[in-house]
Amino acid sequence: MLKGTGASAGVGIGRALVVKEQNLDFSGVPFSGQEQEKARLTEAAAAVSQRLSAMAAEMTQRVGEHAAEILSGQIMMLNDPFMTGQMEEQIAAGNTAEAAVDAVCGSFIAMFSGMEDELMRQRATDIGDLRTRLLVNLLGLEDMDLAHAPAGTILVAKDFTPSMTVGIRRENVAGIITEVGGRTSHSAILARALEIPAVLGVPGAASQIHSGDTVAMDGELGHVYLDPDERTLKDYQARQEAFEAQRQMLKEYLGKPTVNADGRPVALYANIGKPEDAQAALEKGAEGIGLFRTEFLFMDREDLPGEEEQMNAYRQVAALFAGKEVIIRTLDVGGDKDIPYLHLEKEENPFLGHRAIRYCLDEVDLYMTQLRALLRAGADYKNIKIMLPLVTGLEEIRAARAMLEKAKKELAAQGLAFDESIQLGVMIETPAASQIADLLAQEADFFSIGTNDLTQYTLAVDRGNPQVAGLYTPFHPAVLRSIASVIRAAKEAGIPVGMCGEAAADPALIPLLLSWGLDEFSVSASAVLATRRTISLWSQKEADDVRAEAMSLSSVKGIQGYLSSMIKK
Ligand code: PEP
Ligand code: MG
Repeated sequence: MLKGTGASAGVGIGRALVVKEQNLDFSGVPFSGQEQEKARLTEAAAAVSQRLSAMAAEMTQRVGEHAAEILSGQIMMLNDPFMTGQMEEQIAAGNTAEAAVDAVCGSFIAMFSGMEDELMRQRATDIGDLRTRLLVNLLGLEDMDLAHAPAGTILVAKDFTPSMTVGIRRENVAGIITEVGGRTSHSAILARALEIPAVLGVPGAASQIHSGDTVAMDGELGHVYLDPDERTLKDYQARQEAFEAQRQMLKEYLGKPTVNADGRPVALYANIGKPEDAQAALEKGAEGIGLFRTEFLFMDREDLPGEEEQMNAYRQVAALFAGKEVIIRTLDVGGDKDIPYLHLEKEENPFLGHRAIRYCLDEVDLYMTQLRALLRAGADYKNIKIMLPLVTGLEEIRAARAMLEKAKKELAAQGLAFDESIQLGVMIETPAASQIADLLAQEADFFSIGTNDLTQYTLAVDRGNPQVAGLYTPFHPAVLRSIASVIRAAKEAGIPVGMCGEAAADPALIPLLLSWGLDEFSVSASAVLATRRTISLWSQKEADDVRAEAMSLSSVKGIQGYLSSMIKK
């Protein structure tokens, strides 16, 4: 089995088509004079531009405008006088159109691929794609047309350029496998938009897999089987059928409001880690963002993201979700979340240590930068809410609020736009916060229950330790009572209460949460539709009955067994 990153969910079974790079050697092309070469370049650019426009139009119609953005970006680059001007200069210096294209694109690729920002690095791939298209045209080679690959094709390549991905049809492509790229690469975004299973970042895929090989792949687990034995194949076929049936059934819930069986509306939001995830969340039907884990912006880099960079990242999500809520959690580091360049001290008990809000309140510069970025990002759409992680006491909300007010004063003095009335809420994810939820509710604008940590701290069970994984469960009556009392406290104080831990998507727990009156469920993008469906199946009366029975039981086994038996299929 080969393993990569599961980048687009679903099971693909079919025959491999390994896409090889074309021979773009132009060393034998003679220079045919300045005017002639310029004319060749202009002609090639026009042809490529026209082809890209046609592809963008088709993509817009087939998938939606967002999916064609990459192509529109390429067209813009192609028409950018800065780029074409440099190519013409190359020709004036006695180079062929091919050499001019190669040199100029090459220098842009070198520049972009050295950048920190993943989106910028992605631009290098886009320009590489443009170079290939121009050279293919100039050299009179055949345009690779993946649109005519036979049905059941599993496409395998080192990397898929955006325009290659565009030629892909769901009708004939059963899966995509690449050697490079991760969940946020363009190939991944487009694969998800087209709902084609994709496993990216599989080392050696293009050399180990041969055209014609039978392949079974799982785009969620990131597993790829070459010439699978009969048992694996049967297993994959069954999973494929189940996945497809489920997906088709859930599509019914796209664009529908989230309501229980009585028609009572609840908010259904998504959790994201990066601004790029927001698009997928929107496509999967999220009505807002209930948790943006900002620590991901701080990871996989060498230094802190600055105020402008953070502001742009937050604003990107706010713009995409204009008119809807975007709850952004301030930096949650420490515990299991390390960021090497912060040089966090090694601690005996990192989960109980100097982490999350505790760390931020001590790192004043770092926190002020984030608060300023959040305030400024909220200026245009006024839909950002700030959320504090790992709160245990009122002092922390007060300290954070004081810093927020200071940040507002600074911004006002600088004449910078910001959201004056941005809301400040807390995550309820420690037993202390749960116990004093009534007090916190007097000063917090909203609550979101973080069951991942609330479970770990309530039960004194490390959420990441496999030795005690059997003890880690939200079905423990202590956790359930805690959730119930937090929701009650919020209701009594009249503030909204959501849940952004994994429990919010658990079909066995949803009736309880509905019965208690949870206002907002925030789940992973892939769980949005299934959660909407589960919510729609429960009336208040039924949920109340199940809640009463479950809460009368005393053991984890009893509660979990009962609630699992009540899951509505
Ligand atoms: C939680 O603790 O429930 C939560 C949502 O946050 P994280 O998983 O990031 O700790
Ligand atoms: Mg947490």
